[in-house]
Order: sequence, then C-alpha cells, then structure tokens
Amino acid sequence: MNYRHAFHAGNFADLVKHAALLRLLARLTAGGPPLTVIDTHAGRGLYDLAGPEARKSGEAEAGIVRLMAAKAAPEAFRPLIEAVAALNGGGAVRRYPGSPWLIAQALRPGDRYLACELRKEEHDALRSALKGHANAKTLCADGYAAAVERCPPRGRVLLVIDPPFEKADDYGRIVDTLAAARERNPLVQALIWLPLKDLETFDAFLRDLEDGVDGEVEIAEARIRPLADPMKMNGCALALVGVPGLTTDLEAICGWVAQALGEGGGSRVYRLASS
Ligand code: SAM
Repeated sequence: MNYRHAFHAGNFADLVKHAALLRLLARLTAGGPPLTVIDTHAGRGLYDLAGPEARKSGEAEAGIVRLMAAKAAPEAFRPLIEAVAALNGGGAVRRYPGSPWLIAQALRPGDRYLACELRKEEHDALRSALKGHANAKTLCADGYAAAVERCPPRGRVLLVIDPPFEKADDYGRIVDTLAAARERNPLVQALIWLPLKDLETFDAFLRDLEDGVDGEVEIAEARIRPLADPMKMNGCALALVGVPGLTTDLEAICGWVAQALGEGGGSRVYRLASS
C-alpha cells in the first residue's frame, strides 16, 4: 500500500468526484428520511496543499487553484467552490477538503456517516478531521468488507467507492461489494470513482458492472487528453448506480474539466445499455 492521496488532493479528478458528490448530497438531503453514507476509501479527510507532497506533484495548482480562479465555472461547481473558500477562510487555497470533510459538512443531524480507511496514519488523521461531527464514525478497516457488513438492511444508503487502484482486484471488488450491498438493501445507491488510462480496462469494468449489478447505471467521463498512453491517468470517470437526475450536473462538471483543464480531451455522459 504505497498510495498517498496527499500527492493528488485537489487535482482534476478530485474536482470531478467532489463536485458531483456535493450536488448528489444536496439532492439526497433536501428532504426525505435519514440517509446513511458509507465511504469505503475515505483517506485523511483534509489535505495541506502547502505540504511537500502537493508541492512536489503540482496537481492541486493545475486543479483546484485554477477552478477557484475561474471566472465562469458552471453552477454545478458552486457547492465545492463554497466549501473550499470556507475551509480557507476566503483566502488563498492552502487546504483542500477530502470526501469525509465534505460529506460530514453536507449531512443533516439525523443522517449517518461511516468513513473507512485501511492505513493507520491516514485513519488517525481522518479521525481528527471528523472530530466534532457527532453522526460521523471512522473505521480503520477494509472498506469493501465494511460496506457490506455495516450496510443497514433498510433505509436510504449511499456508498462512495474511491479506491487507489493499486491492485488489479479493485475493479472486481467494487462490483462484488455493490452487488452484495444491494442484495442486502435494494435502496443502496453508489458513486464510484474510476481512473481512465486505457479503454480496454475501463470497458471490461463496465461489462462486469452491467452483468453484476441490477439497476440504472450512469457513466460520466472527463478525459483531459486522448487515451494514448496507458501508463498515464488520461482522465477519470464516475459510475452512478441507482442515481437519477444528475445528468445535467455531470455534463457541466465533466465538460468544464475536460475543456478548461485538459489538452485535447473530451467528456461524455451516458447510461449503460441495461439500465
Ligand atoms: N475518498 C478520498 C477523498 O475523496 O478525499 C480519497 C481516497 S484515496 C483515493 C484512497 C484511500 O484508500 C487511501 O487513503 C488508501 O490508504 C485507502 N485504502 C486502500 N485500500 C483500502 C481498503 N481496502 N479499505 C479502505 N481504505 C483503503
């Protein structure tokens, strides 16, 4: 386990994931019964963009710093821009919120949040980032197993699945986890983040998702460059399972990222054939 999100926090892929996540949470918490969010790969919760990792990679400079300076970013980015501005006291962007901080801020008092992180140092930081959020719990454990074991059998549940993809079995474990959680509770919805390197790996995952999981699946792709070099992260994608009504936001988010932050990439949002 070498992956450290501190190198990548606030990059183009975080912008896609976090902007969509906040728009989705706004809908899910606008009314209705309590919501449980289970974040299978939570990370440390808050990131220091002035730290050595972020400075070395320069990814936040090319991502969140450009979004915050943009004159005409789409409305779909507004909740993320406001969250980052609030975290930084309206000044220069020195800190970036991870999914745990964003989720904890967005939930209502009656909602529940479980943040899973396997790496101990990251989990310790996560626990302190979530201090003061009475309805948020953390678990230093495998998030795939926890998502199934801790999935409530009734009520609304959102799984956020954002693995580092260091291991080849991440793709298979996503599908298995989702299928098992939805078997336990058919109301489970999911937002899954995926890297776009080469099309073969991505298409194979989409076929497995179609075969393994019942329900509506919407895919949103943001490519920052053509998928010519499979060793590079050439873009990212989100798979939304059981989540209707987010298409316009996804188009705006992926379109802006590909166009404003990319070099000859593109974006598209589509539904899988079976949905
Ligand atoms: N979701 C976070 C966010 O948006 O701020 C970023 C998560 S980062 C991409 C992936 C994290 O998963 C890393 O912190 C890594 O240590 C952790 N991790 C790796 N394997 C895991 C597993 N099986 N269960 C839980 N966490 C895991």
